Amino acid sequence: MMPTFAYLNDVHIGTGIRARLPYLLEQLGIRRPLIVTDEHLVALGYVDELALDFRCVFDKVATNPTEAQALAGLVQYRQKACDGIIALGGGSPIDLAKIVGLLSCHPGPLDQYAIISGGSPHILNTPPPLIAIPTTAGSGSEVGRAALITLGSGRKLGFLSPHLLPQHVICDPELTVNMPPSLTAGSGLDAISHCVETFCSARYNPVADAIALDGLKRGVKALPLAWAHGDDLQAREAMMIASLEGGLAFQKGLGAVHSLSHPLGSLTEKQLHHGTLNAIFLPIVLEYNLDACVGKMDILASTLELPRRTAVPDFFREFNHRLGLPDSLTDLGLIEDDVIPLASCAYGDHCTATNPRRLEIQDFEKLYQLALS
Ligand SMILES: [Zn+2]
Repeated sequence: MMPTFAYLNDVHIGTGIRARLPYLLEQLGIRRPLIVTDEHLVALGYVDELALDFRCVFDKVATNPTEAQALAGLVQYRQKACDGIIALGGGSPIDLAKIVGLLSCHPGPLDQYAIISGGSPHILNTPPPLIAIPTTAGSGSEVGRAALITLGSGRKLGFLSPHLLPQHVICDPELTVNMPPSLTAGSGLDAISHCVETFCSARYNPVADAIALDGLKRGVKALPLAWAHGDDLQAREAMMIASLEGGLAFQKGLGAVHSLSHPLGSLTEKQLHHGTLNAIFLPIVLEYNLDACVGKMDILASTLELPRRTAVPDFFREFNHRLGLPDSLTDLGLIEDDVIPLASCAYGDHCTATNPRRLEIQDFEKLYQLALS
C-alpha cells in the first residue's frame, strides 16, 4: 500500500502511484478533465499513458506561462464543457492550470487578483477541482496556494489564495526520470532555494522553518544522486519530497533570490529557466544577507555540516559547479542592458519585503552586476 498523506492537500507518493488517477477523478466527480501540460510531455507519451476515456489537452504552456496562454486554456475548458483540471508537468503547467481555474469562476481582468494589487481577498469563488501531477521536482506548486504568471503587461506576478491549492497531488518519481541532468539540477535548485530563502525570511514561523530545513537536508543529499543517475528512483522520490517541502514552507515568504529571478523570467523571448536563475542568485544573495540574520546562517551552516556561516555562500557556488549549472547570467547569454533595467521590477517584487536585509533599487542593480560577472 503506497502512502497518502494529508497536509494542506492530499499527497499520493510512490513509484507507479499515477495508476491511482482514475480513482481520484471519480472521487472528485470529474468526468471531463482538461489536461494542462506541454508539448514535450505529450510527445513523450505521458498523456497517452494516463489512458483517460475523455481526452481534452491544452499543451501550449511555455517555460514561463503567460496570461495569453491561460486565456487560451480557458477557451478550451469552456468549449469542451470540462468539469475539472489535471495539471501534468513542472511548475509552469501547474501554475497555468491554477490560473485557468481562477479565470473560470472570476471575471477579468486577471491583474486585479495579483498579490501586489492586493487581489488575494477578491479570489472568493471555488475553482473547479484540480489534480497536480508534477514531472519535475522543484517548484513546489503542487502543494502551494500560489501561482506565478507573466501578464499581458509583461510583468511576472504572483497570485495567492487557498482556492488555488490542488485537491490531490500525485508524486510518482517514475515521471521525473526523463528529466535531463540540466533540468534536474535547475529545478532541484529551485526547491533548495525555496527552503533556504524561506528559512532566512524575516517572518516568524517556526513550523515553516522546520519544514524548510528538512527539505534542504534532503535536497542537498539527493540532488547530486538524481543528477548523476537519472533512474535512481529513491533519489528522485527524495527530490519530490524536498520540492513539496519547499512549497509548503515558502508560504512564510521568500526573498531577494526570487525578486531577482522573477523579472528575468518575464522576458518571454529569452525563456530563462526559473530554477537555473535562482541557482546563480543564491550564493550572491546569501553573501548579501550574511550579517542580517547571523543566527539563521549559523543554523544553515550546521545543517550543511560547514564549520562557519561564512562558508554557506561558497557551499552553494561549489554545489552549482558540481551540477554543471551556469556560474553567471553571462553564461545564459545575458548582457548588462538586458538585466540592469530590471532592478526596479525586482525591487517591486512581492518577495522583496521578506528578505532579511533591506534592499533599495541600487542594491538590486549591484546584485545583478555581481551575477553578470
Ligand atoms: Zn521558485
